[in-house]
Amino acid sequence: MKKQAPFVIANWKLNGGIDLTCTSVASMLNRKFEARIGIAPPYVYIGDMVSFLRNSDIMVGSQNVSKFASGAFTGETSAQMLSEVGCQFCLIGHSERRQVFLENDNSCHTKMEKALDNNLIPVLCVGENLQQYELGLTNDILYRQLHQSLPDLNLEGKELCIAYEPVWAIGTGKAATADQVQKVHSFIYQELVEILGTERANKVHILYGGSVNKDNVEELLSTPHVDGVLVGGASLDPEHFAEICALANKSAQ
Ligand code: PEP
Repeated sequence: MKKQAPFVIANWKLNGGIDLTCTSVASMLNRKFEARIGIAPPYVYIGDMVSFLRNSDIMVGSQNVSKFASGAFTGETSAQMLSEVGCQFCLIGHSERRQVFLENDNSCHTKMEKALDNNLIPVLCVGENLQQYELGLTNDILYRQLHQSLPDLNLEGKELCIAYEPVWAIGTGKAATADQVQKVHSFIYQELVEILGTERANKVHILYGGSVNKDNVEELLSTPHVDGVLVGGASLDPEHFAEICALANKSAQ
C-alpha cells in the first residue's frame, strides 16, 4: 500500500533567532514539497514565520500550548491565540516539558482538548527514558501516556499526530533502529485501535523523533507505521533540514 505524504516537523526548541527564521524560510520557499513540512520556532518568531511562509504549504506550529484558555496565567499562550496568529499544529508533552517543567499526562490531555477545539493539529510526544528502556518498560510507559492523554477527545474531522520520541535518542546522535521503531510504532497503533477504534486509529499519523538526520530519514520513513519524523538538532541547519525534507518528498512519491 502506498504511504501517505509523510510529516516532517522541525522543533527548534530554545534556539535560533530572527536570522535563522529568515534563512530557514529562504531555503524552503522556492521548493515544492509533497511531504507535509512544519516548523515550530520559539513563540516570538511564529508571527514572522507565518508571514514569510504565507504563500507556501509549509506549516508553522508551536512547541507548547497552555492548558488554560485565558486569565491570570503569566507567561502562558493559549491555543486560540496560536490559531489566531496562524499556527496549524502544536507540540504537546515533549519530554523536555515533562522533565524540566513537570508536565504530566493529565495536563497533556487538557492541552489536547484545547488544541483540537482551536483547530490546531496536536502532536503528542510520548516515549520512555533510558532507565525505563533498559528495564524493558517501553510499552508500559507508552500504554500509560496514550491511555491517559487520548480518551474522550472530540476527534470528529480532526487530525492528530503521535510522536514516538525515546528520550535516550533525543539529541544524543543515537537514533533508534528502524527495527526498534517498527516494533514500538506497531504497539502504538495497536493501542490507538483500542482507545479510538480502528477507523480513527488508521487516520492518526505516528511520527518518530530522536536524532533524525539526512542519513537515517529515508530508512525511518520506509518503516511500516512510520508516518513522519520530528527533527530537533538537524532542523537548525537550514540546508540540512531542506535535504531531510527533499528525502521525505522522495519517499512520498
Ligand atoms: C526533539 O527534541 O524533538 C528531537 C527530535 O531532537 P533531536 O532531533 O535533536 O534528537
